[in-house]
Order: sequence, then C-alpha cells, then structure tokens
Amino acid sequence: MSTTHTPQSVRLRALVDTVQRNERTLRRFQDVELQLIRAQDFQSLCHVLLDYLPREFGLDRVTLWLNDTLPLLHEMAVRHAAGGRAASSPKTSRLQTSREIGDAAASLCARGRPWLGTPVSMRDEAADALFGDDERPGSVALLPLAANGQPSGYLCLASDNPSRFASGMATDMLERFAVIVAASLDNVAHREQLERLGATDALTGLPNRRYFDERLREETTRASRYRLPVGCLFIDIDSFKPINDVHGHAVGDRALAMVGACLRKQTRIGDTIARYGGEEFAVLLQGDLKDSLVVAERMRNAVAQLELYDDGGARIALTVSIGVSAHSVQHDADLDKLGRTLVDEADRAMYKAKSDGRNRVVTFAA
Ligand code: GH3
Ligand code: MG
Ligand code: MG
Repeated sequence: MSTTHTPQSVRLRALVDTVQRNERTLRRFQDVELQLIRAQDFQSLCHVLLDYLPREFGLDRVTLWLNDTLPLLHEMAVRHAAGGRAASSPKTSRLQTSREIGDAAASLCARGRPWLGTPVSMRDEAADALFGDDERPGSVALLPLAANGQPSGYLCLASDNPSRFASGMATDMLERFAVIVAASLDNVAHREQLERLGATDALTGLPNRRYFDERLREETTRASRYRLPVGCLFIDIDSFKPINDVHGHAVGDRALAMVGACLRKQTRIGDTIARYGGEEFAVLLQGDLKDSLVVAERMRNAVAQLELYDDGGARIALTVSIGVSAHSVQHDADLDKLGRTLVDEADRAMYKAKSDGRNRVVTFAA
C-alpha cells in the first residue's frame, strides 16, 4: 500500500516524530535521574554526571562546578581532586571549583534559570572563565544547582553541535533535572559528612547529638545569609521508663528504634533529625513556626499510631511530647546564641507539653 503525502499527513508525521523524540529524551532523563538518586557517595555521583550522562546524551563534555565555599562541598571536591580526576585533558568531562567559573556562571544564569546558547553569544570574560584554553564547544546548557536556596554549583552540558542548545528552547526538562542533581549532591554531601564524623547512633541509625550541633551551626548560618526562618523540635518519648521497667530493656530498645524510624519518615529533604539523648530526639526544619507545627503534629500523630507489642501480644502505647520553636533570622544575628536559643526554647516548650498532660505539641511562648 502506498502512502499519499498530503500536507496534513506530513504535519501529522512531524508531530508524531516530535512526540516520540520527546518521550525518548524524557526516558533518558529519568534513567539518569534514578541513578543520581541511588548514588550513595560523591564518587558514584560524579561517575553518573561525568561519564554516564555525556555518553547517554551524546554530549561532548560535561563540567560540574562546585561551590567550594560551602564546607561540605569543599571537602568532597578536595578528596575527589586527590583521587586524580580533576586534572584531565581538554575535551573530557571534569570537576571544577574555581571562583572565576562560579562568577561567570552566576552572571549568565540570571534569576537561577538555565542559560542556553553558543560561547560566542557570551561576554568574552564569561567564555574565558568557563572554557579557559580548552577548545570552545559548539553550544552549551548551563544549569544552576540550588539545594535549599543555596547555590551549590553549576552543571555545564557542552555539545560540538552549535544548534544543540539555543536560547529560547524549552528548559523544563533541564530545570527538573537540575533540581534532582542538586538534591542528590546535597544528599551525598551529608551522607559523607555523617560517615566521616562517625556521627551515627547505632540503635536508631539516626545522626547523634554531635552531628546535630554541627548542623545547627550550618543551618543558622544559611538562614542568616538568606534571611530565612528556621524551626526546631524537641521530642521526648512519654513515660518511657515504665516501658523498660515492665517489658525489659530489649523491648525499650525496639520502641526507641521504631520511634526514630517513624520520626525520620516525617522529615523532608534538607531537614535534620538526630537522637539527641536517651529517649529524646531533636529536629531542625527549614521553615517558619507554622511549617514546624505542621511537621510536629504529623510526628506526634504518627508515633501514636505505631504498633508495638510485648511478648504476650499486648499492645504497648507509645506517645511523644513535642516542643516547638522557630525564628526568622536577621542578617547580623549572633549565630551561636541563636542556635542555643532555638534548642533551649524547644526544650522548654517540650517540658510544658509534659506538664500539660503529654502526647501533645506545645509552642514556646516567652
Ligand atoms: P516522661 O514522660 O516524663 O518523659 O517520662 P520518662 O519515663 O520517659 O522519662 P525518664 O527521663 O524518667 O526516663 C527516660 C528513660 O529512658 C530512662 C532510661 O533508662 C531510658 N533510656 C534511655 N536510653 C535508653 C536506651 O538506649 N535504651 C533503653 N531501653 N532505654 C533507654
Ligand atoms: Mg527524657
Ligand atoms: Mg521521656
């Protein structure tokens, strides 16, 4: 059977082609994104971005620029460079950390949006900073990576084809991809920090108090730099001593692990939860008092639903009392004092929750 090429069928064919091409691109993105989310350490993340991504997308090189003024990223970049990857020849993908590249990328990606185009359409200083003495690519897509409002880096996808990336192209898939890269980067950075510090509590698998204190410092710094609110929850298991006394320490340990896992499930990416002491947990939230209260109430409710049974099959009730505090941080805040105040206020609110009858959320009131 022969096909007749009416203008309409040609248009339809073109439309089908476009849809199929977009679907293939989307699938490839999803595949890379899955690998990023699965990456457990910085080395694997770099492998996905610098080896796998260029291969899958037929890119001529990929450059990951990291903001190494962020302490977490600085250490990762240094160790990665020590692994011998940074000093590769031109035209290979690599990791960069220089100030000039960061400034050039920031000037191109105004308002945190991706920049697409040819090196000749950039200002000379920007192109010099980005490509140095390397051969200039045909076109690039420069994606800002921002986790929690903080610019953690840029990803530069370069093609020898001058029309591969052009201004005016749709960037929704690229923007979504950048969000996932940034979150994965943040995730491996914290994971590596935890491991390095030996800061995990064995019973609950949660970070310990030492890690919490370190994160408190980082979060108040971030909040102050960007004038963001920060919230803190102090959580104490109700009448825990009787659980130990009646059912034994092993059941008590099981209860602690269950509560820890349950609380962790209620946190979002970027929040910090730690086992602060015996049967106490502390949480740092990127949000204001209203957000913090929502999370606290969700946690209180989730713990009350937990099903813990003793050896005879009888249900053991588990509840928590939660104290909440939050602050909007000013630019010139005394960060040590702010951190202490946050925790202290949440702790005091928690004691109020105990005296008000337990299994409740109480906000700090001066
Ligand atoms: P409240 O509602 O006022 O908080 O009462 P509580 O019984 O929870 O408070 P209290 O501070 O009297 O008791 C805390 C108990 O937590 C005492 C301690 O033995 C127990 N505990 C602390 N760490 C662990 C642990 O790792 N495993 C077990 N099984 N128990 C622990
Ligand atoms: Mg206690
Ligand atoms: Mg208690």
